[in-house]
Amino acid sequence: MQFRIINTIIILLLAAGLVLAFFELASFIYVLAFIVFYIFFLLIVATNVRFNFFVKSFSENRKIKENHIAITFDDGPVENTLEVLKVLDKYNAKAGFFCIGERIEKYPEIFKEIIQKDHLVGNHTYTHTRKMGALSVSRIIWEIEECNRIAEETAGIKLKLFRPPFGIVSPKTQKALERTGLKSVGWSIRSFDAVVSSEEIILNRIKKRIKPGAVILLHDNNAKTVNILEQLLLFLKNNHYEVVRPDKLLEINAYS
Ligand SMILES: [Zn+2]
Repeated sequence: MQFRIINTIIILLLAAGLVLAFFELASFIYVLAFIVFYIFFLLIVATNVRFNFFVKSFSENRKIKENHIAITFDDGPVENTLEVLKVLDKYNAKAGFFCIGERIEKYPEIFKEIIQKDHLVGNHTYTHTRKMGALSVSRIIWEIEECNRIAEETAGIKLKLFRPPFGIVSPKTQKALERTGLKSVGWSIRSFDAVVSSEEIILNRIKKRIKPGAVILLHDNNAKTVNILEQLLLFLKNNHYEVVRPDKLLEINAYS
């Protein structure tokens, strides 16, 4: 709603600018520059869930006083998830796993093991399509509901938290979340573990951004994650940080 009003005002201003430019009362260059800037702005807010522009997301807890931090994993469950769970156990850390519905169907036992070990599980759509930004409201609702259906059939729980694939959000995502009643969970530290190959670069990027209340994004379907996680947990332990479940850190309910 907020976006619709802002968007309408900007489009009216642009139309007025084009009319003025047509009668040579304003410069076409300025109007064009404004259009380019606006498109750029929309791209930034549509691909950065933490800006809360289209969708209100829980991406960190700035009010937290203790040295608490949360780690989240996207795109599982896969076989590698079991290795990730072992490392978390070793450091007695509780994390969040945003799971893809199709993979829950493929690895139901791993999905159940995550829950058994008292980690959080959340919805990461059914297919994790790359076309997320182009989907209709009804298709986004289907993606969310299918993932929730398979999670409930597998483990008897109703997922309440949603992580948008690729962090891509739009006014349509907001509508789909309102209709399904799920809440969006983002992150404050993006590790880029899916695109950067050097473990050292990824780890240093995370370490530099660590602060109380932060939410870290990793991927449990990535072979590098196990090593990165072990070093990260060691670093956090040495710096007196406690890794807590994301729902506890963000003070929200994980299930309904
Ligand atoms: Zn993902």
